[in-house]
Amino acid sequence: MRKISANYIFPISSMPLKNGIIILNDKNKVVKIIDTKGNLKEIENLEFYNGIIAPAFINAHCHLELSFLKNKIKKKQLLGNFILNLIKEKNKNIEKNLKLDFIKKADNEMKKNGIIAVGDISNEEISFPVKSKSKIFYHNFIEIYSLDNSKSDLIFEKAIFFLSKISKKFKNLVFSIVPHSPYSVSDNLFEKIKIFSQKNNNIISIHNQETESENELFFSKSGHLYENLKKLNLDLSKFSKKEKTSIEFFFPKISKKNKILLVHNTFTSEKDINFLKKHLEKIFFVLCPSSNLFIENKLPKIDLFYNKNLNVAIGTDSLASNEKLCILEELKKIQNKFPEIPLENLLKWATINGAKSLNLNENFGQIKVGKRAYLNLIENVDLKNMKLKNASKIKVLNF
Ligand SMILES: [Zn+2]
Repeated sequence: MRKISANYIFPISSMPLKNGIIILNDKNKVVKIIDTKGNLKEIENLEFYNGIIAPAFINAHCHLELSFLKNKIKKKQLLGNFILNLIKEKNKNIEKNLKLDFIKKADNEMKKNGIIAVGDISNEEISFPVKSKSKIFYHNFIEIYSLDNSKSDLIFEKAIFFLSKISKKFKNLVFSIVPHSPYSVSDNLFEKIKIFSQKNNNIISIHNQETESENELFFSKSGHLYENLKKLNLDLSKFSKKEKTSIEFFFPKISKKNKILLVHNTFTSEKDINFLKKHLEKIFFVLCPSSNLFIENKLPKIDLFYNKNLNVAIGTDSLASNEKLCILEELKKIQNKFPEIPLENLLKWATINGAKSLNLNENFGQIKVGKRAYLNLIENVDLKNMKLKNASKIKVLNF
């Protein structure tokens, strides 16, 4: 049995407790949470920590397989150029073992940073052996793309074949088939993913409005992203201007029966959110602030998401566009720009909301009696103002 206390406990599913005590049994299950009302008496074998104890973090968006691209791509050159450089770097003949080393390191880094579950985009098989052995739970998004309507059968069949192969090989992993983005998936392919999602317990994750020029592309078939897609020799001839924003264009094409993770949302407006109004309960707005600053040097309207009380979750994106895989760092970046958002909310986004987005809230994202405890200690917090400091850091207490 362990008795654990700190300056504050944030169970997330209930009110924060000053000097609360969590009692764990030998199987690491929470058997009791004691509210001392800030009045901690001497208790035998009590472990006391300075800081805040919170549930382990959920990283709702990552690409583990891109870890080898750390420090390889230049910052702040907009999404169109980022994609071109990413493809260029990916096409270089990098040794498989080297890629695997980066994947192992990145998995380890996330563990040390108190991340217990990840929504991970996978285009290839390379990361699965590491993920299947990891302490971290991975929901794997098999991402597909093709703008060519006539190839949609082939692309989808290949994805199904890949899914059946890897789900037999890695039985403890969970998979969904997802569209890459509104601008890289044809109507036919969107339709196939929709039918598949409706029949299966698929979670939909899609990169959304990561660049201003994504809206421009759909509105007027012009702009930075359009020009860069042309450089990829894609057949954009059938791509007509829609006079719609990206969300207005693609949202009708995806299943509404499933959880929907909209990733980035850097250029999502209030009008877009109103457009989604009927479906907001199912939608998770996954924010990856470090990656947005890296690629576009811009953050989403996070105050708007907060004020509208939307389901927000947090992602790191990959090491191709981030220096660290650390959810706490993402929260610091949000707090720096939007200090009005309370720490309790930021922690809710980083824990229970991420868990809900990946259908994992039964196991992760909260400290609750009867549940297995996965605990982070956040050290070096400004407890007087309940704010993170730049020097705040994570210590994993119980994984
Ligand atoms: Zn991504």
